[in-house]
Amino acid sequence: MPRRHARYDHTMDERVTRLRERIDALNIELLERLSERAEVAEAIGRLQTELGMSHYDPVREQAMLDALTHANRGPFSDAVVKSLFKQVFQASMQLEHDQDKTRYLTSRQTRDADTVVHVGGVPIGGEHPPVLIAGPCAIESSEQVGTIAAFLASRGVRIMRGGAFKPRTDPYSFQGLGVDGLRLGREAADAHGLAFVTEVMDAADVVACAEYAHMLQIGARNMQNFTLLRAAARSGRPVLLKRGLSATIEEWVMAAEYLLHGGNDQVVLCERGIRTFERYTRNTLDVSAVALAKLETHLPILVDVTHSGGRPDLLVPLTKAGLAVGADGVMIEVHPNPAVALSDNKQQIDFEAFDAYLEATRYHGRLSPGRTELYGAEG
Ligand code: PEP
Ligand code: MN
Repeated sequence: MPRRHARYDHTMDERVTRLRERIDALNIELLERLSERAEVAEAIGRLQTELGMSHYDPVREQAMLDALTHANRGPFSDAVVKSLFKQVFQASMQLEHDQDKTRYLTSRQTRDADTVVHVGGVPIGGEHPPVLIAGPCAIESSEQVGTIAAFLASRGVRIMRGGAFKPRTDPYSFQGLGVDGLRLGREAADAHGLAFVTEVMDAADVVACAEYAHMLQIGARNMQNFTLLRAAARSGRPVLLKRGLSATIEEWVMAAEYLLHGGNDQVVLCERGIRTFERYTRNTLDVSAVALAKLETHLPILVDVTHSGGRPDLLVPLTKAGLAVGADGVMIEVHPNPAVALSDNKQQIDFEAFDAYLEATRYHGRLSPGRTELYGAEG
């Protein structure tokens, strides 16, 4: 008991208090000198980068350590002085390397606020309610796309998709109507007050597609077509960039970087499923990629629930999964008569199934005024 008392008194001793005050002041002084040293190291780093020199120079480091041990008057041993300063050198080197890192335009480190993309007056991203982009895989005729546009508009959908240039595995299968398809798509969209999104496959078609569409889609097979990305960046239209079939998240985000670097910040990412060993689904919807893309980039992101699962019975759960991990909207294929569709006829759904989908996801009647509506909130 008395010993404990003595120790307690000791900490209250004025002499200790004063010495501690000196230590506090020395800490601040050391910090200031360390910060000053770091700024000089950064300046050296910038010059080395400019001159193409390496930041690490072992001979220079050894010379600095020798000078320090030579000047060491104790009480620290030379070994302790060396180890302390090695830490300082390493921290400075890290700063120099960090300075060299490219500041990517897609990164949240460059821009923290969510980008909102406007497609024919419809905002996607940020605090806006999730958007639903629906329409046929391919535009097949005036009647087909007109019927779909009328139906979608009656259900509150505001953006219609539809391919005029179709990337098909089999060269003998329907390849799309080309420019005629663009015209039919735009006419149908205009007639019903919809915005129109269509895929562009070739840099040479960017101008034509941009003339008719409110948004250009770059498909999975073209995600790393850098010529096309550069041309789409110059199109003056927002771009929907699908993730490649076997693309890593980094490759996908870098493809988006091409668009932003080319001067177009109106970019929406779209996770459409990746190729895995699984055969029960057409592709595997990578929900972790959606969550990660939201964390790493400020761009809006959609999930394509049609091409990912490739199964009508998965549309509702995949929609919920995508929105649960932060997607800003959904893309889905709808066709008046999927059985006779000229492409993707196994995975497109008809109008009745679309109504059931809207009901199940609570999109029915009008598009969601708030994200929670999808989870059953009334109103
Ligand atoms: C499409 O959206 O019609 C399409 C071909 O998609 P993806 O590029 O994702 O396969
Ligand atoms: Mn399709």
